[in-house]
Amino acid sequence: MSATLIDGVAVSKAIRAQWKQRVDALKAIGITPGLSVILVGDNAASQVYVRNKAKACGEVGIHSEVHRYPADVPQEVVLGKIRELNRDSRIHGVLVQLPLPPRVDKAKVLDAISVDKDVDGFHLCNMGALVAGGAVFPPCTPYGVMALLDHYRIPLEGRNAVVVGRSNIVGKPMALMLLARDATVSICTSKTRDLRMYTLLADILVVATGRPKMIGADMVKPGAVVIDVGINRLLDGRLVGDVDFEAVREVAGFVTPVPGGVGPMTIAMLIANTVQAAERTGSKQTETGAAAVHASILP
Ligand code: NDP
Repeated sequence: MSATLIDGVAVSKAIRAQWKQRVDALKAIGITPGLSVILVGDNAASQVYVRNKAKACGEVGIHSEVHRYPADVPQEVVLGKIRELNRDSRIHGVLVQLPLPPRVDKAKVLDAISVDKDVDGFHLCNMGALVAGGAVFPPCTPYGVMALLDHYRIPLEGRNAVVVGRSNIVGKPMALMLLARDATVSICTSKTRDLRMYTLLADILVVATGRPKMIGADMVKPGAVVIDVGINRLLDGRLVGDVDFEAVREVAGFVTPVPGGVGPMTIAMLIANTVQAAERTGSKQTETGAAAVHASILP
């Protein structure tokens, strides 16, 4: 029996349409959400991601701009630009496209972004908030996975969820978000002994390793929900995930394709976070306005 395909393209389109309405509402009160992307170096994949983000922003009416720097740019220049964008009231979200060249201190750069403009959710405060059970901005990729699971009404409470991969941008926040929804979560890494023993237990299996097709059909419990975060370009130019899609779809209950699964969701959730950042500014403005009105009628 073939698994139900989780269609990230269709779901992300519906989500972007919903957020466009909120962009329109903000514009009606004079606020255009703004996103600044910082791109350092000439990583080909990053160039494509940044272009896709700018295109998606344009389609929903978000102002977006890209600040490009060569790989050998002094770190201080990047930090200076971030500080400038933190102060810029037209800009509600700031993100630094990863990976950064090795000589740039990634942690220092990410933590320089103002917490209330950290739409990628990588600032230490946002990550800490996620651990404590809330987040100002959930990291976009795992946030997108949660949106897909919810769209397909996949129950999480009490289910065994296995996350393969523990990066700060995907694996760890993914595990925390599943835990927050009462799944029983295991995290597997390259050091895990007998990975298959864990994956076979999974009702929900999320894979984010960057290892092409490493999850085969023999590693998946019949009927499981398999979410493939991986994006790998093979030598022949094809894009594949971390899951052997053709084999696994014969065993799983639900599966995401690559491309067309998690990838489009990441961008949809970036839009969600950026619009929410702008809405928070809007409500601050309203509060300030209300306070001014209130003050003017006080004796
Ligand atoms: P990282 O390289 O930062 O992390 C990979 C993780 O996978 C590590 O924790 C590593 O373990 C683990 N791992 C590697 N090999 C194995 C193995 N054989 N068995 C078990 N675990 C293993 O990658 P990212 O998290 O940044 O990205 C993962 C994939 O997701 C990539 O293909 C990337 O392109 C894709 N991606 C897709 C996005 C999207 O929008 N769809 C967004 C972000 C990433 P250890 O820690 O022990 O080394």
